[in-house]
Amino acid sequence: MVSHALISVVDLRGRVFGGDQFVFEAVIALCLDLAAEPCRDQLLPGYEAVTQAECEAALAARPPALINLSVLGTLKTPMCRPAGEPLTVEEVADGVFVHKGHIAEPDRANRGDVANLGFIVGDDSVAVVDTGGAPWVGEGLWRAIRKQTSKPVSHVILTHLHPDHVFGTGPFAFTGAEIVAHVGLSRALADRQAAYRQSFETLIGIESVLGTNVPPVTIAIDKEMAIDLGNRPVLVKAWPVAHSLADVTAFDTSSGTLFAGDLIFHRHTPALDGRLMGWQAVLHDIEHMQVTKIVPGHGGPALDWPDGLADMNRYLKTLERDTRQAIADGERLGDAVNHIAESERTAWVLFQAYNKRNATVAFTELEWE
Ligand SMILES: [Zn+2]
Repeated sequence: MVSHALISVVDLRGRVFGGDQFVFEAVIALCLDLAAEPCRDQLLPGYEAVTQAECEAALAARPPALINLSVLGTLKTPMCRPAGEPLTVEEVADGVFVHKGHIAEPDRANRGDVANLGFIVGDDSVAVVDTGGAPWVGEGLWRAIRKQTSKPVSHVILTHLHPDHVFGTGPFAFTGAEIVAHVGLSRALADRQAAYRQSFETLIGIESVLGTNVPPVTIAIDKEMAIDLGNRPVLVKAWPVAHSLADVTAFDTSSGTLFAGDLIFHRHTPALDGRLMGWQAVLHDIEHMQVTKIVPGHGGPALDWPDGLADMNRYLKTLERDTRQAIADGERLGDAVNHIAESERTAWVLFQAYNKRNATVAFTELEWE
């Protein structure tokens, strides 16, 4: 039994703030190069204060280590200002908060805020699960956490390597949080990071991408590990290739909430970037876990158990069945992708953007089986 009802923000002098009360924070202007524009104010987490003077005093007493930021652009002098907007979050279980991303492709309107993110509050510390598609999303998540609790963020769990889930990680590195991910994430992300960054620059705009930095993974998971947040164990489990090359889930045992990352999609068409048969096997294993609620990577933000798995299972089964039929009929890939899983079209958003790609991956995988 865990009680997290008493959540308020208490500063070092024991005063309560947060909620609607004004809070100051430290930022640093980060510009693309010496020519200045474009720039963005990057949050320096950990200097939140009730007054501007206290924020400035904290900056003077503990100057931020800017070494990692300096490689990303030209830095101005850190300064304090009224705090920016927190992300909206919903408490889906006692002490478990989720921000629901837009069900859309990343674009200039949503600025990369298209994935579900969340955090779990223990007696001693907080674990973040995914950080969003741009630094500003991670910063908004930090503020949302600070509205709920002053406890430190001890862990940032990255469910997989896709940019909409990890490009907001940079701000959390300042707080000294452990970065937890699948043992295969670092290498896979190193291979793809430049391409992801370039595509996000085009999709959401350079101003939003500026300062994007995924800090190194400090805890690599190859099987399973329990993280202790203080009377609140969170089980992080690494899975074989499924949705992607490097999927983990985070299971809050106190509430029975499973953060599934993109192993489970809701409303948003599933995206296959790993192995179709591997994904189905993983979902089969997940079905046998003792779960009360699922937080999917997109949609939701919280699904009932086990009904929340039904759409995913049906889609992947249909994808497999139609692909096997096309291969048995001797169809060519280019023709087959036009009808594979077509019966699923009306059940999902963004079907056009993802289904053909999924069919291509499935066909290539099953053709050589
Ligand atoms: Zn994904």
